[in-house]
Amino acid sequence: MRECPECGFPIDRFGVDHCPKCDGLAPREVRQGMLEVDVAHAGETWEHAREKIVAALDEAIYYRHAGLKIIHGYGSRSGQSIIGPRATAFLRHLAEEVGGRYAGDRNNRGASIIWLNR
Ligand SMILES: [Zn+2]
Repeated sequence: MRECPECGFPIDRFGVDHCPKCDGLAPREVRQGMLEVDVAHAGETWEHAREKIVAALDEAIYYRHAGLKIIHGYGSRSGQSIIGPRATAFLRHLAEEVGGRYAGDRNNRGASIIWLNR
């Protein structure tokens, strides 16, 4: 979870750009293009992968990326076979929650994209 750099108040909602407590947050940079994060190829458990997805989505919205690409794998290698299907379902849910659009990656069935439409 992010914290306000001014007062340390936890900011628990996606894409919020000011602190509900002190109303401060340093001016942010705006980044171009897609943010890409691999959550399945470093021996992650599902819990860890899930945390990485949540943090990546928050970062993608905060920095106004066009979209977020999550590489979750699809193979039969231990972690990936668990993370792949769960990540796909979770990303569909998150896309709805943040008003984005879920899409599979046409070139890589081990990856999914949330377009953020901003
Ligand atoms: Zn604050």
